[in-house]
Amino acid sequence: MLSKSRKSLSRGCVNSNKSIGNINKKFYRLLFELTELPGCLAVIGGGPIGCEMAQAFARFGSRVSLIQHGLHLLSREDSDAAEVLHSVFVREGIDLRLGAKILGIETNGKDKILLIERDGATMNLPVDAILVGVGRAPNIEGLDLEKAGIISDRTGVQVNDLLQTSNPHVYAAGDICSPYKFTHTADAQARILIANALFMGRQKVSNLTIPWCTYTDPEIAHVGMSEQDAVEKGLAVTTLTVPLAAVDRAILDGESEGFARIHLRQGTDKILGATVVARHAGEMINEITLAITGGLGLAAIGRTIHPYPTQAEAIKKLADAYNRSRLTWSAKKILGLWLQWRRR
Ligand SMILES: Cc1cc2nc3c(=O)[nH]c(=O)nc-3n(C[C@H](O)[C@H](O)[C@H](O)COP(=O)(O)OP(=O)(O)OC[C@H]3O[C@@H](n4cnc5c(N)ncnc54)[C@H](O)[C@@H]3O)c2cc1C
Repeated sequence: MLSKSRKSLSRGCVNSNKSIGNINKKFYRLLFELTELPGCLAVIGGGPIGCEMAQAFARFGSRVSLIQHGLHLLSREDSDAAEVLHSVFVREGIDLRLGAKILGIETNGKDKILLIERDGATMNLPVDAILVGVGRAPNIEGLDLEKAGIISDRTGVQVNDLLQTSNPHVYAAGDICSPYKFTHTADAQARILIANALFMGRQKVSNLTIPWCTYTDPEIAHVGMSEQDAVEKGLAVTTLTVPLAAVDRAILDGESEGFARIHLRQGTDKILGATVVARHAGEMINEITLAITGGLGLAAIGRTIHPYPTQAEAIKKLADAYNRSRLTWSAKKILGLWLQWRRR
């Protein structure tokens, strides 16, 4: 089953006197069909797409204002990861308006005017174009799914762990039924669907380990649990962080803003989750995803030789930090005595 495509999210210009929940559809233009750079662009929504597009258009030369309801960008990511991006955006001249609410949109000639409320004050923001990046909705009206016994709601189609809908002969995969709305998740689910629907498979979606990446500069990539997720599950966690400023290649590349972070089950090297903020974080997270899916602990990464100098050494340094954390006071003492004795 399929969901409404990028159209629903990548709205270009809006020209209406209505609030964003009720924008007149005839004024939509698709972002990727624009042939002229908007001089002044408002991006509504500080999620992955809002951030990616805000930075891209700012770098093309638009004056970009990013209006975000929450108090930090990328609300699903660690707040210090979002802070790295925040300071990059400020440095690149993006006008960030966090904790702001859109009251409505008006027109004045060619101008679109956003009415914004922030800290109890209202203000007008005239712009040439508005990009709305506040989420997507499934495109299932008119399909009469209920006639086939398929339960759906405004979030999409309900499926079980095997991707069967409430009609067990009908399966669904992708954005329409997944909380993880990514191309790679749709692909992984499609493979499960084929195995289960056509080959009597019993593969479960809950067994998937799903990484994701926001393609800003630097990128922010994540896999598995956050520290908060682990705490909510009652798991004791050890968190290790290596700043990119400690990685020689990142320094050489002039890309030392960011960090690699890993969450381990306390007292073990079992990897629960990780976040990487780096120019190529989307590439670096793969090593950790592989370790999770392969059941390898962080110690296995520590035994893996990483070429010098690479930015992926940040991951190896996490393993070194883990090894150092295992050196208890008594182990250090015994080691010291042993080395003293050997020097005699
Ligand atoms: C701007 C933007 C950037 C993104 N960037 C990334 C990224 O960098 N990485 C990433 O992993 N994901 C990204 N995504 C998300 C990714 O595009 C989706 O998760 C992925 O396309 C989901 O695949 P899908 O097959 O479930 O749905 P879609 O790719 O949306 O495919 C649905 C298809 O079904 C059609 N359709 C819809 N309704 C009907 C109907 N009633 N009857 C027949 N056909 C219908 C649509 O026209 C469309 O062709 C991005 C999304 C957007 C909007």
